[in-house]
Amino acid sequence: MNLILFGPPGAGKGTQAKFLINKFNIIQISTGDILREEVRSKTDLGLSAKNIMDRGDLVPDEIIMSIIEKRLSKPDCNNGFILDGFPRTLNQAIELDKILKKHQIDIDKIIEIDVEEEILIQRITTRALETNNSRDDDNSNVLKNRIEIYKKDTKPVLNFYSNMDKLITINGMLSIDEVSEEILNSL
Ligand code: AMP
Repeated sequence: MNLILFGPPGAGKGTQAKFLINKFNIIQISTGDILREEVRSKTDLGLSAKNIMDRGDLVPDEIIMSIIEKRLSKPDCNNGFILDGFPRTLNQAIELDKILKKHQIDIDKIIEIDVEEEILIQRITTRALETNNSRDDDNSNVLKNRIEIYKKDTKPVLNFYSNMDKLITINGMLSIDEVSEEILNSL
């Protein structure tokens, strides 16, 4: 099964991705995790992405697409995968479509986790206060920027997928377990 998890920062995409990879024995491809690993390893890519990520802006599409193309060509994707945090722009969605066609891969469902903005802000503020778990991009100004960018650049990607009749929208304001259950029911 090949899935795309879609939703604003703080919607719980990472948590639900972990649930789904265990349930279906598939892998998670998080462009955010891959970028953070590049930053930690101080690679050229990581160094050029760090400031962009710290501001909460989007890393350029060309960088993201080269990461994704490389990752999707690894054999562990053959059992199925979840794209988490990608695509985030219409251009990324279009470029992904070309890669999938080239490799004859189909996406089964796009799962949108829908959460009201106020709840997102509360959630990420809590995550930032839990210092052990905080990320450099979890402070409130950066968060506001990330939500604005989601609304402006990422949300329009949903139109691209709603035409394909594969889009499922889940109420992300339920408990974690309830969201997982709703996702399972919809698959
Ligand atoms: P995430 O962990 O998905 O919230 O991503 C953390 C940060 O990595 C984002 O705020 C962006 O700066 C960058 N990033 C992750 N995925 C993408 C993407 N698909 N397109 C552009 N930037 C991304």
